[in-house]
Amino acid sequence: RRAQYAALRDQPPVTRDGTRMTLMVNAGLRDDAGALDLVGADGIGLFRTEFQFLVSATLPRRESQQRLYKSVLDAAGDKPVIFRTIDVGGDKALPYLKVEDSENEENPAMGWRALRLALDRDGLMKAQARALLEAAAGGVLNVMFPMISEPWEFDAAKALVEEQRAWLAARRKALPRDVRYGAMLEVPALAETLDILLPKIDFLSIGTNDLTQFLFAADRAHPKLAERYDWLSPAILRFLRRVVRAADDHGVPVGVCGEMGGRPLEAMALIGIGIRRLSITPVAVGQIKAMIRSLDLSALTPALEGMLARPPEDLRAALAAWADRHQV
Ligand code: PEP
Ligand code: MG
Repeated sequence: RRAQYAALRDQPPVTRDGTRMTLMVNAGLRDDAGALDLVGADGIGLFRTEFQFLVSATLPRRESQQRLYKSVLDAAGDKPVIFRTIDVGGDKALPYLKVEDSENEENPAMGWRALRLALDRDGLMKAQARALLEAAAGGVLNVMFPMISEPWEFDAAKALVEEQRAWLAARRKALPRDVRYGAMLEVPALAETLDILLPKIDFLSIGTNDLTQFLFAADRAHPKLAERYDWLSPAILRFLRRVVRAADDHGVPVGVCGEMGGRPLEAMALIGIGIRRLSITPVAVGQIKAMIRSLDLSALTPALEGMLARPPEDLRAALAAWADRHQV
């Protein structure tokens, strides 16, 4: 198997009936960028910038943030990198950052975290924005914001980056050729205001890890709940299908960057509801590519439509049986 996946490194993720998928990887550390060539992915679809903050004993200085981003962009070469702004707070606490109000939170996942914290403590976000803009000078900067619940949060975050861009421009510093802004959809409420959000953004990335925990009201880290709710449930897939359709209608590229996309049956279902871009853990690329290359999309799409219209008792089993029958 491993040899078979390695042989796929230079093969594109195209379905049997000719649809090209975009297959990117999730990363967070400098070395992860090297994985791009090794696994043959299209870029980094989610760079978790908080990793640098989490592994550091002190607040990483702007220069050191910039060095990391630059080295990742250099390693990625022509392939795109999507940087997600800092997603800390809640259970990802930074000892050196005084976030007194986030200590002793009863529900850290739903607490003062990610963009919520970053918009309040905007010094952190401004420094990061400068580091990103300077690191991407001459190239394209793709930046996205985590845990957006309402469209205004995207506006505020974008304004903050644009402010830094203007500051640098006024000082005649080298700037990126283009800055593309994305939103993460991981809070269900955001799905109800997509008509407002979508015209503002350049791309949408669905974080299915947080999204499913909020949809099911089930802690993503709770061992007793880990197996109870299935990603392959009508609730999740119908929800995602609605989001994908809205994004398609607005011509906004939409992808999934949660762990769900790194499992073959789950990835197949995502493709079945219209997802064409996945960002997954690097070790899963071979497996997912193999699945895509064996898939007949024109057969899957109506089959899944039928399953979602009148869901079988066990959707996972039904999808597995379909995949088996079709040699996926
Ligand atoms: C997600 O929530 O699905 C996601 C990709 O972000 P993280 O796992 O870092 O919260
Ligand atoms: Mg998340």
